[in-house]
Amino acid sequence: MKVITTLDDLRHARAALLGPVGLVPTMGYLHDGHLSLARRARAECASVAASIFVNPAQFSPSEDLVAYPRDLPRDLALLEAAGVDLVWTPTPEIVYPAGFQTWVTVEEVARPLEGAHRPGHFRGVATVVAKLFNAFQPQRAYFGQKDAQQAAVIRQMARDLDFPVEIVICPTVREHDGLAMSSRNAYLNTGQRAAAPVLFRALSTAAMVWTAGERDAEGLRLLMAEIIDAEPLARRQYVSVADPVTLQEMEGPVAHALLSMAVTIGRTRLIDNLVLGDD
Ligand code: AMP
Repeated sequence: MKVITTLDDLRHARAALLGPVGLVPTMGYLHDGHLSLARRARAECASVAASIFVNPAQFSPSEDLVAYPRDLPRDLALLEAAGVDLVWTPTPEIVYPAGFQTWVTVEEVARPLEGAHRPGHFRGVATVVAKLFNAFQPQRAYFGQKDAQQAAVIRQMARDLDFPVEIVICPTVREHDGLAMSSRNAYLNTGQRAAAPVLFRALSTAAMVWTAGERDAEGLRLLMAEIIDAEPLARRQYVSVADPVTLQEMEGPVAHALLSMAVTIGRTRLIDNLVLGDD
């Protein structure tokens, strides 16, 4: 596995790869969710490339950029074991050199939910992913359903800017108690970790009630809110029943919807989601 820092070296190494090339963008501190993307890419592509870059542009000044967990040696060993051919680990100065001033802004689909609670977040995400697509020229790029709105924003960006890349969305990988794997789970202390499955419990209870015949969007939101609010360590930022494509909040009976939520436990912000109905 080649590990590369500069953009020039990346371009040379990329040119030597057999296609199709599958790209797995990450911020590192890898877990089985990230590795499921790498394994899927390995199974579907002649060459697999990954990036490890904690993207400052997607963190607001009040967020956890400095504290974000990092362990590059461990990440590289895991990617190598997953069969990755090429890893790019740029510095912030390589991605955003002095004088950088061009940003990619996706509009409607980036506005609600995470966009409303994390101003500027998706501008940072769309910009770095556009730069990764330019640098790697992948035929396929792999992202997790865990970040459902991010997937929608990237799909929209790739379509609008004519990137010739297939966006592949992989299922959310969970711990045994349902907690979605996340690098940020490392912030949780023992009591907080015990409380954290409340997100999945709320989502799966709503999905169960929907299967049993409750179709009202507001009824499902209220049920999820009630379950989160019953957990003393959890603070609800939002619960949502939204159109899976536009991400607009739904009203009345729902046949196909994205259930999603953001909850803080202590100072850790967790997100999760489930899709109701056929994709
Ligand atoms: P991150 O390092 O958090 O930026 O995540 C890198 C990629 O891994 C993104 O496409 C995420 O959606 C995906 N990912 C993160 N957690 C999970 C998970 N638990 N299951 C599946 N994909 C995930």
